[in-house]
Amino acid sequence: MKKQNKVCQSCGMPLSKDPQGCGTNADGSANHDYCSYCYKDGKFLFDGSVLEFQEFCRKMMVESGHSKVMAWLFTRGMKRLARWKKS
Ligand SMILES: [Zn+2]
Repeated sequence: MKKQNKVCQSCGMPLSKDPQGCGTNADGSANHDYCSYCYKDGKFLFDGSVLEFQEFCRKMMVESGHSKVMAWLFTRGMKRLARWKKS
């Protein structure tokens, strides 16, 4: 069996680290593409560009005690995630 290493397609957080497990659709069912911090009840909690979202996540991480380097490492791959990919 293939090991699943799913990450949120909006912020890049591993879904295994999400206390809720994943986001939720408008009908309350589970959405395994996004985490519960990004996607809830069928809506993105943060609406804006990827750069604004990176900025927002870095600030949140630093405020919750992570170093700036960690915050930068965490957010730097964000642009490649499905939500932000330009088709
Ligand atoms: Zn997320």
